[in-house]
Amino acid sequence: LEAIRTLADIPAAQARKRGEAVAVKFGDRETSFADLDAGSNRVANALLASGAAPGDRVSVLTKNHDAWYPLFFGAARARACLAPVNCRLAAGEIAFILGDAAPKLLFVGEDFFDLALAAVADLTDRPRLVALYGAHPGFEPFDAWLGDAAATPPADEPQLADDVLQLYTSGTTGRPKGVVLANKNYRRFLEMATKVDGFAYGEDETVMIVMPLFHVAGTNVSFSGLAQGGRLVLVKDFAAGDAIRLMTDERVAHAFLAPAMIQMMLQQPEADAGDYPALRSIAYGASPIAEDVLRRARGTFGCDFVQFYGMTESSGGGSYLSPAAHDLPGKLTSCGQPWPQTEMAILDGEGRALGDDAIGEIAIRGDLVMKHYWNRPEATGEAVVGGWLRTGDVGYRDADGFYFVHDRIKDMIVSGGENVYPAEVESAIMGCPGIADVAVIGVPDDKWGEAVKALVVRTPGAEVDPAAVIGWARERIAIYKAPKSVDFIDALPRNPSGKVLRRELRAPYWEGRDRAVG
Ligand code: ATP
Ligand code: MG
Repeated sequence: LEAIRTLADIPAAQARKRGEAVAVKFGDRETSFADLDAGSNRVANALLASGAAPGDRVSVLTKNHDAWYPLFFGAARARACLAPVNCRLAAGEIAFILGDAAPKLLFVGEDFFDLALAAVADLTDRPRLVALYGAHPGFEPFDAWLGDAAATPPADEPQLADDVLQLYTSGTTGRPKGVVLANKNYRRFLEMATKVDGFAYGEDETVMIVMPLFHVAGTNVSFSGLAQGGRLVLVKDFAAGDAIRLMTDERVAHAFLAPAMIQMMLQQPEADAGDYPALRSIAYGASPIAEDVLRRARGTFGCDFVQFYGMTESSGGGSYLSPAAHDLPGKLTSCGQPWPQTEMAILDGEGRALGDDAIGEIAIRGDLVMKHYWNRPEATGEAVVGGWLRTGDVGYRDADGFYFVHDRIKDMIVSGGENVYPAEVESAIMGCPGIADVAVIGVPDDKWGEAVKALVVRTPGAEVDPAAVIGWARERIAIYKAPKSVDFIDALPRNPSGKVLRRELRAPYWEGRDRAVG
């Protein structure tokens, strides 16, 4: 890692050491570190030739694809800042992000050409449109855009203070916010990654990438994998059965999975029969995991499990629950302890630090914390106070220094004066036979203010009824936390990071009324 000062150095550092080794496998195509390095340099030179100046934004709109990596490193090498766009958003939402980031160029993958055209239609400053792969009228083909760009690095060296990525938050609670991360944020991330189980990989070990590359989990697992000389196996669209087969066939050693993905994998009959010859660790995070799902997953996959708690605003870092800590009494439901050289605290409404076991807002401080939100000084001022990043999550720290995240402040239900955290209720309900998925929300109630409601997806053929769900919950959590009503639905709305969009589930019940929380 000594040779890696900024993200831009990753391909060259590995290419010098072992240029012929495979860096990325996507479908049947393999890219070596030498080719990744040359490709990244060509992108950097072509960006400069296109007039991209240091600090200019460049965007990309596509699913996971191996064409992402030369873009990441090429933009970093050209001192441009890559601002990826979630390709699952609607045209209007994409237009909002493009209007916000104001990229000089927009790289678009096949499948998204029409969406991109609709999104840029009303922009005053339209970006130059390049087809990243595939072809479409109105888009320059990638090879034509690259032209005869040299495969040697441009002279101008990236600086630690350069904005290198502008990652939009997952948009779970509202409009995505552009989180500006500098090379120095990622330098600290890479330093830490080699010291933290779940991000520390061996050279030549295979890392499966199923998280979307437009969000922080996907980028971080990729960067730490490549920086340590790992081989990435990149997946275009997550499918539970394919992921299981890939883990066997590609001898996957490490993977980062959203809890929703783990849940879906466990529902595949082949999961239990699976053979995972090289599997060493499964990292999970980005949303709460139900205890029952975690227990079953540990049994099924039989490898180390590492939980990560963090957010885009802290470069994806924060706390982690090590494999060993999973077996300590009472710690399985913890999100663990702070990363090295990272501070965490529980703050009250005035920003004062609270003691052990007191419930408050989780805060994070250190070099992982973002520079700022793009174009949103007010939101930045509210989120980062005295160097502390206020996460918007409620939780506490126990006397052993382990953190526990209850849920998002905005999702907390206040019922009869008691605070109910949906994640805790969901975790209790998930173990109930016949239930494939569940989300808990607060709905308006004349007596209680808000009443707890569970929206349940049944496993096919199961006959579980509301009384069974409510009874199951009442045996496991306090009566006031158990749902008062249960509705059955076909599937939960989730974003690409596997996060349940509770605001969408709440909307029909709250039409024309304001919630006190959030
Ligand atoms: P937005 O900020 O746009 O609403 P988001 O908060 O989902 O979206 P991210 O930065 O991707 O965007 O996610 C960070 C959030 O994810 C955290 O604030 C927390 O609520 C949740 N989270 C992350 N890791 C965990 C974890 N291990 N357990 C529980 N929740 C987690
Ligand atoms: Mg957030």
